[in-house]
Formats: sequence, structure tokens, C-alpha cells
Amino acid sequence: MVGGMIPEKVFQQILILGDAWEVFATDYDENQRKVFIRVRETPRLWPAAHCPKCNAQSVAGYDHVPERQWRHLNVCQLESAIVCALPRGRCRECQAVFQVKPPWEGRSKHFTQEFEGFALLLAREMPVSKAGEILGETDQRLWRMLFAHIQAAHAQLSMEEVVWGGADEMNCKKGHHYLTVFVDLLAKRVLFATAGKDATTWEAFATALLAHNGHPKAVTQAAIDMSPAYRKGVAEHFGNATVSFDKFHVVGQVVEAVDEVRRAERTQPERGKLLEKARWLFRKNPENWTAKEGTRWEELAKENLTTGLAYQMRLVFQDIYLVGSAKLARERFQTWCDWVEQAVAPGQLLEPMRKRARMVREHLEGILGHWKAGLTTAYLEGLNSLFSATKRKARGYRSTEHMIAMLYFVAGKLSIPCY
Ligand SMILES: [Zn+2]
Repeated sequence: MVGGMIPEKVFQQILILGDAWEVFATDYDENQRKVFIRVRETPRLWPAAHCPKCNAQSVAGYDHVPERQWRHLNVCQLESAIVCALPRGRCRECQAVFQVKPPWEGRSKHFTQEFEGFALLLAREMPVSKAGEILGETDQRLWRMLFAHIQAAHAQLSMEEVVWGGADEMNCKKGHHYLTVFVDLLAKRVLFATAGKDATTWEAFATALLAHNGHPKAVTQAAIDMSPAYRKGVAEHFGNATVSFDKFHVVGQVVEAVDEVRRAERTQPERGKLLEKARWLFRKNPENWTAKEGTRWEELAKENLTTGLAYQMRLVFQDIYLVGSAKLARERFQTWCDWVEQAVAPGQLLEPMRKRARMVREHLEGILGHWKAGLTTAYLEGLNSLFSATKRKARGYRSTEHMIAMLYFVAGKLSIPCY
């Protein structure tokens, strides 16, 4: 071989094994279309080794365990694997016998670190099942590897600086199975998620904060929806936090009210017909209407529908969020409540609107938190699309465990791969 290198030497160099390990053979299996890189320890391994039990740097080779494989990056589009019968060492001081952890091994004992790095890169871009297809690996192995990295990286996450917290519920399966997801509104990251949507989830969050160098008492702002469970949870576990109700959920309540009015009016003999297939028209903002929906609205506006009036109420309500100060917003909310309440007699179609006006009066201080704290809830509003992305990536795996792991992976800003 003139000017060339034997394959063992090439792999020795590209694997960066150091001088404690050597590639002593490489084979190509034509049936499996797979390259095997055979590695063994060198005598230089032992002088540098420490006993895992007593830490003495006095270890001798003892024996070898049966051969194993670690999936590695492809070589010329062929699968490759490192093959090694790992050595066991024995401590001269405490006589402990232990297996050496090979430097190429990833968090999964089936993969090398380089392979894991590539698999994680794919997992960032696509559902785990799709990454599995491309890599020719089972979902189970990939998930196990992902879990290991996420768990290790999340364990290192510092929550020391968390002062503005937010929470939202994530619906994992249709109709049941909820997670409460806690976020840092300043760092714009998911911190913690747990099953359920009751007050005890806040206790779990408080415990997580303490475990990650944070403190519930350091949290001075909590942005939540108006559910009594969350308010109770904050009051019991985050006594220093000023509660604000985020815009997304508050407006969402009024949007729901309009929908309730529409459904009630829909059952009326005369006007019900006019409201057929108008659900989305009334859920959207006018700027999001299609041309067809715009024309439809112009026709409906002539009919004096109660739903039309409710919709106008909603638009005025949303616009309050455009004013610049809490003082002004307070006046506008009060005016809005007066208007709605005067427009409705009990038992009328507009009753759902009146219920929301009462809700606004009762929660006004928290609603004004939007202005007072200068709290940007944009991150909370974006959580819904984040939840969808998370579900897509966990396709086919909707357990609490898979969902939480994927949430941390997608939105935890964790440093992964984590070794
Ligand atoms: Zn020892």
C-alpha cells in the first residue's frame, strides 16, 4: 500500500479513540450490508483507570464480558457498528471488579455518541417514528435514548431565576388526559409539566422549583386562566405572586359566550335558518374572514340577529386590549360590562354575555394585571401551537411520560445531547 492507509488505521483516527483503545479489525458483512469496526483496549487503559468504588488509581485487567455492538454513523451509506468485548478491571486496593465504560458509548447502551447526536438532530426535525424509519431503528430504542438525554438535561436545568411564571393546560387525548404545563415567561421556556389540571399541580411545580435551585417565594407574577383550581393552587403555594389572567384565555371566554348565543339562537324557528354553518364566521376576527364570510356577514348584519350583537360586543371587548394604560382599560371594561348588562334581560339569548360581564367584574384586578405588571403573555398565547407541534412529534405516543419528555425537548431549551 503506497501512500495509503489500512482501514483499521483510518477508523482508529476518525473514531478519536485515544491510545487506550484500538481498532484491530474491520469487516464488511455483505448479507447485512453492514460494516463492523472491531475495537479492543490497549495496555494503556489500566494505568489511567480509577476504581469506581474507592477511586484508587490502581487497576489491573481482570477479564472480558461477551461481545456487544454499538450502532455508529453510516459509512458510505452502509450501517456501521463498533464491536467490542468490554474488559473488566479489578482494583488492587479494594478488590472490586468492574466493567469499563467505553468512551464511545452514548446514553443508550446500543448507540455510540455520534449516532445519538445524529438521531437527536433528526428528532428535532420530525416525529420520532419518522426518524426511526430513516435510521432503521425501532421507535422504542429511539424514545429510550431521547428519555435518557431529556432526563439528564432537565435534571441540570436551573430554575434559580424564575420570577414570572405562567401555566396552561394541555389536552393530550380528546376529552380526557390533561397536563398542566408551567413556563418561565421571561426566559420563554417550558420549565415543568405534570399530569392533571387541579390545584395540586401547583404543589408539584413548587417542589420542582426547589429541586432546581428556584423558590416559590421568588415568583412574583403568575399568569393563568381563570380556573378556580389554578387560582387556588397559586394562592396556596405561591403566596408572593400577583395573579394576572392572560388575555388569550379572557378573550377566549367571550368568544365562547358568542358561540353559546349562536347555538341558542340557532334553535329558534325564524332566525335559526340564517345561522346555518356560521360557526367559524363568529369565532374568527373580521380580518381573518374569507371573502365569502365577509359577504355573509354583510347579509347577516341586516337581520338584527342577537348573535350579531353578541359578536359586536366581543369585538369591542377585544379592542380594550389596545388601550395603553390599566386606568383606561379599567374604565373601558366597566363601560363594556354596563353596556352588556343593560342589553340583557335575564333568561334572554344574550345571557351568556351577561355571565361573562359578571366574570370580568369579579376578576377585574387580575385581568388588569395584563397592563399593571407589563406582563407579556405572548409566550402563553403561543403555547397552543407549541402543544400541537409537541403532539405531532410524539405521534402515536400519547402517554403522559412521552408528552412531557417531548415538551421538554421541544420547548425546554435544554442542552441536548447531554453527556
Ligand atoms: Zn477500589
